[in-house]
Amino acid sequence: MEKRERIFEGKTKIVYRTDDPDLIIQYFKDDATAFNAAKRGTVVNKGIVNNRVSSRVFEYLGSEGIPTHYVRRLGDREMLVKKAEIVPIEVIVRNKAAGSICRMLGLAEGLKLNVPIFEFCYKKDDLNDPLVNEYHIRALNLASDQEVDIMKWYAARINQLMGRFFADLNLELIDFKLEFGRYKGEIILADEISPDTCRLWEIGTGVKYDKDRFRHDMGDVEEAYQEVLSRVEG
Ligand code: UDP
Repeated sequence: MEKRERIFEGKTKIVYRTDDPDLIIQYFKDDATAFNAAKRGTVVNKGIVNNRVSSRVFEYLGSEGIPTHYVRRLGDREMLVKKAEIVPIEVIVRNKAAGSICRMLGLAEGLKLNVPIFEFCYKKDDLNDPLVNEYHIRALNLASDQEVDIMKWYAARINQLMGRFFADLNLELIDFKLEFGRYKGEIILADEISPDTCRLWEIGTGVKYDKDRFRHDMGDVEEAYQEVLSRVEG
């Protein structure tokens, strides 16, 4: 497998073509953005942490029967993945209230939700990724009904699996965001799963080990990311 030219640069990752048309390389940067890129910065070695953590999580989910785009990790900052067509919807799963749902519904941070909440956001940066429901998705043809059902089913199963995975590391999975892609007629899990895309609170102390440390200038950002990596790689 040979690395070829850059095809895309996003906020946190660069994507490269390979000599195989079905495979691309994700390169993880240290750049950090929050609040729809209104806040920008760098978290030293975040790209390494996110690549290595995501790799471990994808390997685990794959071993539990969740199809993912992950093929293998290539060094510290690169991951070889299947080239999927990204469904323009972010799936958010919440176990406790934090972030946007607290602002939207006036909930106290940390409120235990009676059942997990599944949300869809339309991936559209210039609109700030608005919350949409299944009617919007159908009306705008963002995904088929069958694809929505599959994404909901995988999201629920991933919540169970990742909840256990992180609980074993003494971290509580508060919420997370998933992206899916279309690959050879199937829906597969794509993008990344990392402290950028999950809220992780230490069990017992409630200490935050995720991007909220960067969002809210809480300090010890690099240390928190490194701690997640060392627990994940155990
Ligand atoms: N999230 C993400 N990318 C996004 C939006 C959200 O990875 O573009 C993650 C976020 O890190 C958190 C969860 O999804 O773990 C829920 O985020 P929320 O809607 O609370 O948004 P926030 O307040 O973080 O902007």
